[in-house]
Amino acid sequence: MERETLEVDVLVVGAGPAGLSFATEFARRCKDRGEEKSILVLDKAEELGHHQLSGAVVDPRGILEVWPHAESDGFPIQAKVSEDAFWWMRSGGKRKFQGPFLPPPFKNKGKWIVSMSEAVQWMATQAEAAGVEVYAGFAGAEVLYGGNEEVVGVRTVDQGRGKSGEQKGNYQPGYDIKAALTVFAEGARGNLAKTLMAKKNLMDGRNAQIWGMGVKEIWEVEHSLEGQVIHTGGWPLDTSIYGGGWVYGLPGNRLSIGFVIGMDHGNASLDYHACMQQWKTHPAISELLEGGKIVKFGAKCVPEGGLFSIPRLWGDGFLLVGDTAGFMNAQRLKGVHLAVKSGALAAEAADSAFADSAPTGAALSCIDTLFQASWAYQELHKVRNFRQAFQRGFLYGFLRAGIDTVFGGRLPGRLPTQSDHERYYSVSKSPQGPSAAQNGPLTFDKLTSVFHSSSMHEEDQPCHLVVPDPSICTDRCTEEFGNPCQHFCPASVYEWQDNQLLMNPSNCVHCKTCDIADPYENIDWVVPESGGPVYTGM
Ligand code: SF4
Repeated sequence: MERETLEVDVLVVGAGPAGLSFATEFARRCKDRGEEKSILVLDKAEELGHHQLSGAVVDPRGILEVWPHAESDGFPIQAKVSEDAFWWMRSGGKRKFQGPFLPPPFKNKGKWIVSMSEAVQWMATQAEAAGVEVYAGFAGAEVLYGGNEEVVGVRTVDQGRGKSGEQKGNYQPGYDIKAALTVFAEGARGNLAKTLMAKKNLMDGRNAQIWGMGVKEIWEVEHSLEGQVIHTGGWPLDTSIYGGGWVYGLPGNRLSIGFVIGMDHGNASLDYHACMQQWKTHPAISELLEGGKIVKFGAKCVPEGGLFSIPRLWGDGFLLVGDTAGFMNAQRLKGVHLAVKSGALAAEAADSAFADSAPTGAALSCIDTLFQASWAYQELHKVRNFRQAFQRGFLYGFLRAGIDTVFGGRLPGRLPTQSDHERYYSVSKSPQGPSAAQNGPLTFDKLTSVFHSSSMHEEDQPCHLVVPDPSICTDRCTEEFGNPCQHFCPASVYEWQDNQLLMNPSNCVHCKTCDIADPYENIDWVVPESGGPVYTGM
């Protein structure tokens, strides 16, 4: 069966805040110049917003720059933050910081609490109004290169293959979508951007990206906390592990709760899902949830490396934006405003490149200057050594963060990072964390959590978790690290029985943890034909 080809001027892979901000802003700029350009945005989720997951307390600065009338135009703000606090948790108790005692990064009054799933639907409508075509249900499986190794588009995933890759009766080859410019806005650990970064050495001279793993739940509870924002540190983590929790009060007696852990902890037995379940049993959290019920579950990785871990953003025929490029401020626990800004900066660079001649790497490289002149750069520059300082221990990280805050980030120097997967201790030195949770009034096992993510995949399709060398798992990993995949995956995709790896790919919630956290980098997350979680209202 012949593969169809579609040609557009600009292809955006990923309908998240960065991709949609790029598309809207670029379409407007083309219109202002009196030029018509075909702009296509594709997303792997079956419906727009289904794969969008974030806390999310948003600094509206980026959104209001791209959409100045967002509020009056119906941007879906769930609540504005009216009270904020930080709780330092210890076993059975907590110390509360608020008002003048609240550390500046946790001050959120006036910020917007949003569901990113709803927010991107609104952004997509705005992009369409500006003349952009936005389609869900098309996953990019491969980057297409031209004769000079320039990026010329993306091939979408084939449909209708069986488990062994054989063509079934409903086989339909993916499309080749060719574009003069391709913008990678796939979110954290994009599968296409990963191959592109390796092929084009986009991380040369940068710090390795380091990641956080976030597990989130939405609850309906008895008492409203609408507008309240609480962040927590401490228990159940000890100070050797970077991470903490959140409670955001939504309208309708709902709570967004979650827990993020830095993936550079080194403990081969750590179970992110179990830590989050244990955190809910703390009296300070359990009293908020008592009598309530879980509504949704999700999990996702977030890039925490900051400014020094942002790759080269451009090359012949391509740009990188948003989480894909690591636009996240780990100190403020915020990335949406930076993602939107990175999209807008990319639109300016693309506009200038097209106006000049064509989107070559040289023409697109003006994004570096635009970024360095922006508030996004200033914000990230101030905290450029924040997150990696914690790789040197809690005390060092804490003191360094304090000094950098006092001096406004003016201390010179660059602290390097070590990749998360290189930091594991051997299994014998990995302390037992909380064991996998059981179903109780407040806690859930992983399969129940998967149920609440509504994740589904067609069973008869090639496995989208590719293990290039299975012998590493049995011959080395079992002995050296005790197969951490069985612990770090929040969805029980990896199970070990009698020294055999059994995989349940249909449980996958697309968090990308395995692609990052495997100690031998022996897991490749590739796109499934369709499916995944359904994060409506998340
Ligand atoms: Fe996340 Fe990988 Fe598990 Fe899927 S298989 S849920 S991407 S860790």
